[in-house]
Amino acid sequence: MNQPSIILIPFGYFENDFLKKIADDVGREYLLPVRIRDGHLDLSEFHDPVRRQYNGNALLKVVDSQFSAGSLKTLGLFSVDISIPILTYIFGQAYLNGRTGIASLYRFNNERYGMKKDEQLLLDRFRKEVIHELGHTFGLIHCHVPDCVMRSSTYVEDIDQKSAHLCFRCRETLGSSTELTNMPSN
Ligand SMILES: [Zn+2]
Ligand SMILES: [Zn+2]
Repeated sequence: MNQPSIILIPFGYFENDFLKKIADDVGREYLLPVRIRDGHLDLSEFHDPVRRQYNGNALLKVVDSQFSAGSLKTLGLFSVDISIPILTYIFGQAYLNGRTGIASLYRFNNERYGMKKDEQLLLDRFRKEVIHELGHTFGLIHCHVPDCVMRSSTYVEDIDQKSAHLCFRCRETLGSSTELTNMPSN
């Protein structure tokens, strides 16, 4: 039997070195092997021409149904702007206590906010987001500890203020629930 592992699937172009660093950080945080797998999706099917964004609920659903079978946890990585009906944009979302999540680095580029390009900061923000969404798949809900990675983030500033790690309490909660639900949580 295959060892349970976390699968990261880039949809679109990501540099190998960047993906490897994300995978290493995820592996260290969850103490599980992390593999990077190729994925292909025609993203045009998920584009909403009115909002000029991509449909986060549909993307989460398709990654779950087409790419997650047989893996412990699967996270789809995107670089496009993702939204859901009730929010103007999301950094990512995941099925709480499920097997699948998605994350996008679209809003993590400093240049988007009129600031100087910063590859290290981009990596730092994205790894926090990936670890956060995976936390939801492991059943973790939002946490109020200021530097916990499971704290809710609306703006990049919120991401910058938290660490890339689970707090003591979240770490304790991790894995204590195994019931599968299909409730998306962003
Ligand atoms: Zn916490
Ligand atoms: Zn969240």
